[in-house]
Amino acid sequence: MRAMRMHRAGSPLVLDDIALPAPAPGELLIKVTACGVCRTDLHIVDGDLPAHRLPLVPGHEIVGIVAETAHGFAAGTRVGVLWLGRTCGECPYCLAGQENLCDRPQFTGYDRDGGYAEYCVARATNCVRLPPGGDDAHLAPLLCAGLIGFRSYRRAGKPERLGLMGFGAAAHIITQVARADGVAVHAFTRPGDARAQAFARDLGAVWAGGTNEHPPEALDAIIIFAPAGELVPLALRLVRKGGRVVCAGIHMSNIPAFAYADLWGERELASVANLTTADATAFFARLGSLAVQTTVTTYALEAANKALDDLRSGSISGAAVLLPRLP
Ligand SMILES: [Zn+2]
Ligand SMILES: [Zn+2]
Repeated sequence: MRAMRMHRAGSPLVLDDIALPAPAPGELLIKVTACGVCRTDLHIVDGDLPAHRLPLVPGHEIVGIVAETAHGFAAGTRVGVLWLGRTCGECPYCLAGQENLCDRPQFTGYDRDGGYAEYCVARATNCVRLPPGGDDAHLAPLLCAGLIGFRSYRRAGKPERLGLMGFGAAAHIITQVARADGVAVHAFTRPGDARAQAFARDLGAVWAGGTNEHPPEALDAIIIFAPAGELVPLALRLVRKGGRVVCAGIHMSNIPAFAYADLWGERELASVANLTTADATAFFARLGSLAVQTTVTTYALEAANKALDDLRSGSISGAAVLLPRLP
């Protein structure tokens, strides 16, 4: 099969002809039909995150078709493969049903070969059945951005008035879900980003403004998607007593010192780490008939380096998705 593989950090991926991967016990062989290009892929390929194995097939927003019936999945079933590719099943977190916090996790497209290829193998327990409808390219970004947004949204409690700071892929997906739940979404963008604010209003936000502006009312919860630590004290001052601020990013710059008064009043500060198969199942069940819109730009598999370059330079509209052309 053809695969775009990373051989060295900081070098372009190489189009390699390699053997079809053989599923180990517990694994499915999956024909990849679409694979989203995530910012985490960029961190891996550029070497910001240390390499765990080389050569490596990156990619963890995989939509594909089960190639051979196994482990309760019939051949032809459309599945999604998740970033959390394997958990140990033995550590205190796994035993407590918090496998997203596993002490010995393996990540798809990082510790395990991912979806920048015509086929991949994945643990059946770490795959999710995808609902009918929606094309594969538009589903791919839901598997990372959408899921992070959803887990963060659930961590936010059941807010009536929700703030979202940083209006990118995750926020634009979760705005649509929250709005369907009757939640009043308040979108915070970079100061002066009128285009992003208009986009947020189009998707149903009741208020959109810069992080230098105050919404008309105190909020029940705020999710911070932007990796900017200075937003944390700001968000704490914008939630009501008993309100919650959820940090959704893997990376965030340092949080500046802030007055205890900003936290007082039983305000809470939380983070979100990784995602479980149960999150994915709940997310797709919640989406149900909800026609969530995602904006994508598609690339051929061989154009993976171009997709990464476009993501790096920010010259992309919506999420980048690779489409392996199948023989
Ligand atoms: Zn991702
Ligand atoms: Zn574990």
